[in-house]
Amino acid sequence: MKEHFASIISAIGEDLTRPGLADTPERAAKAFEFLTRGYQQKLDDVVNDALFPSDSNEMIIVKDIELYSMCEHHMLPFIGRAHVAYIPTGKVLGLSKVARIVDMFARRLQIQEQLTLQIAETVKSVTGAEGVGVIVEAKHMCMMMRGVEKQNSVMKTSAMLGSFRDDPATRTEFLSLVR
Ligand SMILES: [Zn+2]
Repeated sequence: MKEHFASIISAIGEDLTRPGLADTPERAAKAFEFLTRGYQQKLDDVVNDALFPSDSNEMIIVKDIELYSMCEHHMLPFIGRAHVAYIPTGKVLGLSKVARIVDMFARRLQIQEQLTLQIAETVKSVTGAEGVGVIVEAKHMCMMMRGVEKQNSVMKTSAMLGSFRDDPATRTEFLSLVR
């Protein structure tokens, strides 16, 4: 990856031998490895048995989970927040694990719609929840820094599974808690 970044830097017309750029290919490669570390993670390690028995069947919501991802069309960042809710059926997930599931899927080349759905489906399969709702709101650098340069547009996506899809009252409760 380091060699490829060196090629890119040359291709844009820069001088790879100037002092400021000397270590840039290596730094960029390390940064890129970090930004895509989701590919190296396994769900079992991320969840790490942090599933706890619970009698609650009330909605659990984790709001404002910071999210940093990269669009698969331009490999530019999109950053924002995820809100994740579910209604448990006997098992609840440690709070930090919800954020780690978000991170595992965000740290890949993504499109926001797919990321949203992957988070929802994973929370549902891990917890066995009767329903899951996920909303992601993010600003895309590929829109802000290039092309249409729409600096203030925020993209919102949602995925509703199980009772969040079938029961309007559940969905309404979720949406009002997120707002
Ligand atoms: Zn893009």
